[in-house]
Amino acid sequence: MKVGVAGLGNMGSAIAQRLIETGNAVTVWNRSAEKCKPLADAGADVAGSPAALADATDSVITILTDAAAIDEVYGGSMGLLAGDIRDKLFVEMSTVSPHVETELADKARAKGAAFVECPVGGTVGPARQGKLIGLLGADPADAARATRLLNHLCRRLEHCGPVGAGAIMKLAINLPLMVYWQALGEALALCRPLGLDPGRVIDLMSDSSGGANVLKVRGPALVKLLKGEDPGPAGFTLDNGIKDLRIMLAEGTGRGVEMPLVTETLACFEEASRHGLGATEGAGISVYWSTRTATK
Ligand code: NAP
Repeated sequence: MKVGVAGLGNMGSAIAQRLIETGNAVTVWNRSAEKCKPLADAGADVAGSPAALADATDSVITILTDAAAIDEVYGGSMGLLAGDIRDKLFVEMSTVSPHVETELADKARAKGAAFVECPVGGTVGPARQGKLIGLLGADPADAARATRLLNHLCRRLEHCGPVGAGAIMKLAINLPLMVYWQALGEALALCRPLGLDPGRVIDLMSDSSGGANVLKVRGPALVKLLKGEDPGPAGFTLDNGIKDLRIMLAEGTGRGVEMPLVTETLACFEEASRHGLGATEGAGISVYWSTRTATK
C-alpha cells in the first residue's frame, strides 16, 4: 500500500515505523521537518507539503495534536485537501471533538475522497507493535476499505458507528483513565507517610482492587518518576490530558451530562501544568499530587 503519514509526533512516528516494517511504501510529512529524518533513514519518502503527501499516496493517516493542527494540515493551498483527492482515503486518528471529524469528513467527501476517523487506545509501544485499539467511525463501505490498513496498526478494531462515534468512544475511554491518575495521586499522598518503597506500593496497587489496567503498562515509568529517576520520553503528555479533559467537559455539557469528576480532575491537571509539568508524562499528575503541599 502507498500510505502517507502526516504528523510525526510520538504516535505518528511510531505508526509510520510500524507501517514501514509491515511492508508498506510510506511517505511522511511533519511541520517540524527534523522529525522526518529517522523515518527517511528507515526507508520512508519525505513529502514537501501535506498536498504533496496526498498526491504521492493512496491513503493518508493523520495523527495531530488538536483541532487547530488538523485545520492547518488539511486546509489551505498546501493542505491535504488542496489537490485532486478523488478516491483517496483519509484516516484521521487524533483525539478531538466528534464535530471536528464530521466537518472534516464533509470537506473530504465533497472533493470525492473517502474519510474515516480512527482514534486509538494505547500509546507509543502498542503503536510500534501494531497492538493499538482502533475506534473506527465510518460509513460501512469506507470502514471495509480502511480495515486492511488499520489491521497493520491495531490488535482490535471496533467499528463504533458513523464518523464522530469513534471520537466519542475515545473520550469515554480516556475519561476514567485521567480520573484514575488523579485518584492514584491522592491515594499515594495518603500512604506516603508510611515511607514504603514506591515499587512495592505500585506493585501492591496493581495486584489489588486499587489498580487499573494501565498500571501494568505505565507502572514501571511511574515508579521511576516517584523515585525521582528519568522515566524516558513522555508517551502521552499531561497537556494532552488537559486537552482531552476539556473536550470531554464540552461534550458532556453539550449533551446535558454533568461531569463533576472531570471538572475536578481538569483543575488538578491544569494546576500541575502551571507548575511546569505540561510537556512531561501524563501519569506524572499522580506524582505531583502525591507530594503536593495542601493549599489550605
Ligand atoms: P505529539 O507528540 O505532541 O505530536 C503532535 C503532532 O501534531 C506533531 O507532529 C506536531 O508537529 C503536530 N502539530 C501540532 N500542531 C500543529 C500545527 N498547528 N500544524 C501542523 N502540525 C501540528 O502528540 P502525540 O502524543 O503523537 O498525539 C497525537 C494525537 O494522538 C493527540 O490528539 C493525542 O491526544 C492522540 N493520542 C496520543 C496517544 C499517546 O499515547 N501519545 C495515544 C492515543 C491518542 P510538530 O512536530 O511540528 O510539533
